[in-house]
Amino acid sequence: TIKTPEPRSEGARAFLARRQKQILIDGVWRDAGSGKRFETFDPASGRPLAELAEATASDVDEAVASARAALTSKEWKGMTPSARGKLLWKIAELIDAHVEELAELETLDQGKSFKTGRFGEIPASAEQFRYFAGFCTKILGTTIPTSIAYQPEGKQIFAYTTREPVGVVAAITPWNSPMLMAAMKLAPALAAGCTVVLKPAEETSLTAIRLVELMLEAGLPKGVVNLVTGFGEVVGAALTAHPDVDKVAFTGSTEVGKLIVSAAEGNLKKLTLELGGKSPAIVMPDADMALAIPGIARGIFSNSGQVCVAGSRVYAHRAVYDAVVEGLSKAATALTLGHGLDAGTDLGPLVNRKQADRVAGFIAEGRSEGAEITSGGNQTGEFGTFFEPTVVTSVRPDMRMMREEIFGPVVAVTPFDDPEEAIAYANDSPYGLAGSVWTQDLSSAHRLAARVKAGTIWINCHSYFSPELPKGGHKQSGWGYENGAPGLENYLETKTVCAVI
Ligand code: NAD
Repeated sequence: TIKTPEPRSEGARAFLARRQKQILIDGVWRDAGSGKRFETFDPASGRPLAELAEATASDVDEAVASARAALTSKEWKGMTPSARGKLLWKIAELIDAHVEELAELETLDQGKSFKTGRFGEIPASAEQFRYFAGFCTKILGTTIPTSIAYQPEGKQIFAYTTREPVGVVAAITPWNSPMLMAAMKLAPALAAGCTVVLKPAEETSLTAIRLVELMLEAGLPKGVVNLVTGFGEVVGAALTAHPDVDKVAFTGSTEVGKLIVSAAEGNLKKLTLELGGKSPAIVMPDADMALAIPGIARGIFSNSGQVCVAGSRVYAHRAVYDAVVEGLSKAATALTLGHGLDAGTDLGPLVNRKQADRVAGFIAEGRSEGAEITSGGNQTGEFGTFFEPTVVTSVRPDMRMMREEIFGPVVAVTPFDDPEEAIAYANDSPYGLAGSVWTQDLSSAHRLAARVKAGTIWINCHSYFSPELPKGGHKQSGWGYENGAPGLENYLETKTVCAVI
């Protein structure tokens, strides 16, 4: 039996002691209009952690109205770019100052190991705000010489562009890396001068609530960020169909991404969609195995595979195929499963029973179709929320486990004889989010990087992120980019001003 350990940080204990969480509208925390609540759980122990407000469409209306009003408020529109940059930097500092607490809350709510949050996702969330803080003072228009003569003669054209915030943004985030996904949207949106209604995943809303508290503490004016917790089909759907929302920034499944495309049609909202993936890792015969095996293992098993870019399809050259299968199987067996807050834990549970059942379903179906499990393959734990890191071989490209996103710690390894074959395998997917190539031959690395259709290609690593690097999906993995300069562009409109002088 796994028990929920007491969090060590005073902050996490105090946050959880206030059991009933609220929504934030126009700078005021309050219950959902319906008065309803639902529980959020520790997936390792099944223990309820807190009660979340179950918002409805009328709460969404109020949140959107608040964001609309804040967009042109003296406190926000009137804030100088430098002051906006300082505010974002201050948010980053507050995240860092609360890193232990935020990492503990993330582990308790989502399941991930403490070290993943403490040394990875929480500091990375602070870096999001630092990176975009610098843009605030560097959002520039241009002056543009024109070519078509203006009649009557003697007059000239003077034209320039300005950049404007796109407006009210609905930020809708998934449950796999809740804090980081929220930071990735809030930081560029605020840098651009937008206002936001944030809707975190219903399974994991705690760190979003804490983050918004810290943002208010940093001095964010009221209404600039509103937070509505609740269910996707209700709150998410109301936001994406809302006529007064200008843009939706969504990270989640391709299935829901498509629903959002239709819902957004009414007022042709701008959309950025960061969707699912089925990312390949290609291992060439000259790969440095000491780098490749642990790198590929981390690329699929970290956060128990609940990572959009997880390297779930490995294509290994036949010369190294056995070594890759054996190496990954050993790496899988060496990982310790347990409560994320226990120091020795490498992998916590999946986010909930439903997700673990889903992973088990893929394995059972694959097995029945001839796939071989060389390591792991079992759903475990008192509540069936854990899943062993799993290596599968003898898979065929048409199997569901090779075509659909499993979002669990499952990697399928397939041999190839010729690089062209590896490229064809890698591109045989509706997704195009990311991929990696493992080789010591520079030319071959860059040739492969150019041929695999995906938003990010890593060479001799997998799943490296930093706010400077644009990330986004090709094919059905999404629209638009987050991070880097393109990440800011998505929150800005261009206005051309053309004058006869
Ligand atoms: P999901 O699509 O089920 O839910 C994501 C969010 O959308 C949640 O907040 C949910 O409440 C909301 N939602 C659900 N139905 C909605 C609707 N009809 N209208 C509007 N919003 C709705 O995804 P998930 O299961 O929370 O997360 C896992 C998925 O996220 C995986 O497919 C994964 O690949 C993807 N993901 C992608 C990236 C990326 O950067 N591309 C990053 C992380 C996760």
